[in-house]
Amino acid sequence: MAKKDKKLVLEDESCIGCGICTTVCPTNLKKEKDINFDVDTEPRAIAVSNGKAFIDYNECVACGICAKTCPGDSLTIEILA
Ligand code: SF4
Ligand code: SF4
Repeated sequence: MAKKDKKLVLEDESCIGCGICTTVCPTNLKKEKDINFDVDTEPRAIAVSNGKAFIDYNECVACGICAKTCPGDSLTIEILA
């Protein structure tokens, strides 16, 4: 479940769909280690579809690791009031 004090935000225009964010996300990595993980049906915190990243806010914990590795600076952590 996403934390309430911060939120990961995607700038769609600059995302090149490289998928790096999906490979460094610790939430994704933890899920993928499960032997029963099904990439086609299981939600991941961040994934790429149709050439763009998308965030599942039910899974993302807003840790910001993906934002540090994105080559397009497309991801930022927004501090919520
Ligand atoms: S958000 Fe960044 S790291 Fe993720 S697919 Fe887009 S460009 Fe690549
Ligand atoms: S902020 Fe953290 S949990 Fe959310 S998609 Fe990025 S790496 Fe994954």
